[in-house]
Amino acid sequence: MGDTSEILSFIRARLDEDEQAAMRAAGTFGGDAVWRRNTLADPDYPADHVLVIFQRVIPAGLPGDDEAPLRVDELDHIAGHDPARVLAEVNAKRRILERHPGATATDECPGCSAWLDGTWRTPPGTLCPEQVDMALPYAGHADYRPEWRPT
Ligand SMILES: [Zn+2]
Repeated sequence: MGDTSEILSFIRARLDEDEQAAMRAAGTFGGDAVWRRNTLADPDYPADHVLVIFQRVIPAGLPGDDEAPLRVDELDHIAGHDPARVLAEVNAKRRILERHPGATATDECPGCSAWLDGTWRTPPGTLCPEQVDMALPYAGHADYRPEWRPT
């Protein structure tokens, strides 16, 4: 097993990148991190769903309108993963990492408990399973290591 601190550094770097991207996106048009999907009661416009980013209103395309950039389900997804949510998730993951700093060559991960038989879930020199799961969404990153994949 390699250095168990490398996966922690990897995750922290990805969270920093996610945070920076969310802040850039929020700052693009006025700094609002909360994006909403609203309904629009405009009789002159046949679509009734819009994405609201600060003062911009982006209407959903209608079925069959291949020129429209986004459909209702896509707007829902974007609104549900707005910068505010990304920043909240980054902060939550950082708190998890504070509880799970990982094992070292000589110590267990302090956040991982012992199994019922008394053996440590994350003995010295092994990867913390919480860190392994947190790294997995970034498996496509060039710095992700195959040995970090959950077994
Ligand atoms: Zn742990």
